[in-house]
Amino acid sequence: MSPRFLLDGMLGSLARWLRICGYDAEYLRSAPDEELIRRAVESGRVLLTRDRMLYRKAIKAGAEAFMVEGESDAEKLASVSRRFSLKLDPERSRCPQCDAPLAAVGREAVRGRVPPRTFEAYDEFWVCGSCGKVYWRGSHWRSIVETVREASRRAEAADGPGHSL
Ligand SMILES: [Zn+2]
Repeated sequence: MSPRFLLDGMLGSLARWLRICGYDAEYLRSAPDEELIRRAVESGRVLLTRDRMLYRKAIKAGAEAFMVEGESDAEKLASVSRRFSLKLDPERSRCPQCDAPLAAVGREAVRGRVPPRTFEAYDEFWVCGSCGKVYWRGSHWRSIVETVREASRRAEAADGPGHSL
């Protein structure tokens, strides 16, 4: 089973990337350390942070925690992917807004819920089962795929020697 994550207030962007790749990533924007740690322990989520103090406190309290490395989104995503052997694939997205699974729907299902030009231009849409937000693969999709591929390459490159080309 895939690990589920809890991200601290500095990692909102990484939470969205993990969701795009299909991983359950809860994000608490402004929770105090104690609340983050309690939530991680109670829900069995891995606490992701860049805050060494928080990391130490979490480990001491019996939570599973990981210090995320890297500067860019792709580097951070690669860092988590490496540690937890995550397959990075944007085809299996969860809702970037609220973390719920997305369901693929046909075009008629979103009539009136997306701009008319979008409705005409795309055949495939995805609807969030929780917040109801509608997604489609617009012009930003290519750059999303590019970032995920870069993260994937970085994660594999760091696996060490012995990799075939
Ligand atoms: Zn949603």
